[in-house]
Amino acid sequence: MYDLIIIGGGPAGTAAAITASRGGAHVLLLERGRFPRHKVCGEFVSAESLELLGALLASPHVSLLRDAVRIPRSRVFLDGRVLQARIRPPSASIARLDLDAALWQSATSAGAETRQQQAVQSISGAGPFRVVTSDGEFEARAVINASGRWSNLNRASEAAAVKWLGVKAHFAEASPPDSVDLYFFDGGYCGVQPVDCSGNGSGRVNAAAMVRADVASTLAEVFSKHPALLVRSRHWQPLSDPVTTSPLMFRVPQPVRDGILLAGDAAGFVDPFVGDGISLALRSGALAAECLLGFFRKNVSLADAEANYQAAYQRRFVPIFGASSKIRRMLRLPRALRKPLLFILESTPAFTEYLVTRTR
Ligand SMILES: Cc1cc2nc3c(=O)[nH]c(=O)nc-3n(C[C@H](O)[C@H](O)[C@H](O)COP(=O)(O)OP(=O)(O)OC[C@H]3O[C@@H](n4cnc5c(N)ncnc54)[C@H](O)[C@@H]3O)c2cc1C
Repeated sequence: MYDLIIIGGGPAGTAAAITASRGGAHVLLLERGRFPRHKVCGEFVSAESLELLGALLASPHVSLLRDAVRIPRSRVFLDGRVLQARIRPPSASIARLDLDAALWQSATSAGAETRQQQAVQSISGAGPFRVVTSDGEFEARAVINASGRWSNLNRASEAAAVKWLGVKAHFAEASPPDSVDLYFFDGGYCGVQPVDCSGNGSGRVNAAAMVRADVASTLAEVFSKHPALLVRSRHWQPLSDPVTTSPLMFRVPQPVRDGILLAGDAAGFVDPFVGDGISLALRSGALAAECLLGFFRKNVSLADAEANYQAAYQRRFVPIFGASSKIRRMLRLPRALRKPLLFILESTPAFTEYLVTRTR
């Protein structure tokens, strides 16, 4: 009998595993895939979570954060305009290939029992819980579901009217700018930022797009949708195979379901262009584990631990979802209505910066 079984070894699941293990809990962390591997992501790690990330990483991995490229500004390319905003404090750019593997190893170092290639098939019970995987069955006093946006455990019954997909790859670019560049077009956007700048003029950029499936399905098609991106990408050399994911669906955030705590994308998927998904995953994973530690120490009941998590999630994270979906709606306004708004944003960078802070 474990104290806690965590499903999913992404940022949310590993943050929960490290926090609970360091708090003295007996933890089993289950991951369907293997690390290291590329994941579809813009790889923009917002500043709000950098201190937490530094604390979660085991000492051999802290250089990942220390040496990460910093991103002090953003540029939005839309309707022929360029909106610029400073990012204060700067965010970090960390390839998921490295980030997820470092967090996974840090969970093992913290004392969690970590098992890869173990897909969870079902969860039953109301405490204790029985978790059935491709390789066996396990029992725990509590469960955190951190299995991401669209796992077999989180699928929404409703079909999305419009299908969105994500696609990303790394490319070589000479001296890339130190900005996160968001290229918007009808039916999607593509984010580009440096993930490695060796200093001798060579660099590695990550290009990650969220796009309607009827608009594009490959990065080449995505690049052709935006004139400035098409020109820029002509000089790129591929450094990784593209990875894709679908569908991308936005739902009302739900941090607790059937006695199970949900963290990261499993609880709620925030618009990728605001670059806060990794931060939310780290923070909600750590928060879920902290709330459960009281239950493992017999200070509170499981129901109380869940209620505490639900209330803290509502207070800290739900406003971020509201602010980012307002910006998404604004960006999807008809071009004629968008025009005066873009004029205001272009001429008042402080207001643009304020909008960015609302998504944090
Ligand atoms: C196009 C795009 C661009 C993005 N850009 C950014 C960005 O720049 N910055 C940012 O912060 N966020 C970005 N995001 C969002 C970010 O990628 C996610 O918010 C983040 O990965 C969430 O972490 P997580 O741990 O909740 O889920 P995940 O990283 O998805 O991890 C979930 C894990 O659970 C495992 N799993 C699933 N089902 C099972 C099962 N049944 N049993 C066992 N294991 C299971 C999966 O294999 C996976 O490893 C982007 C997303 C997209 C789609």
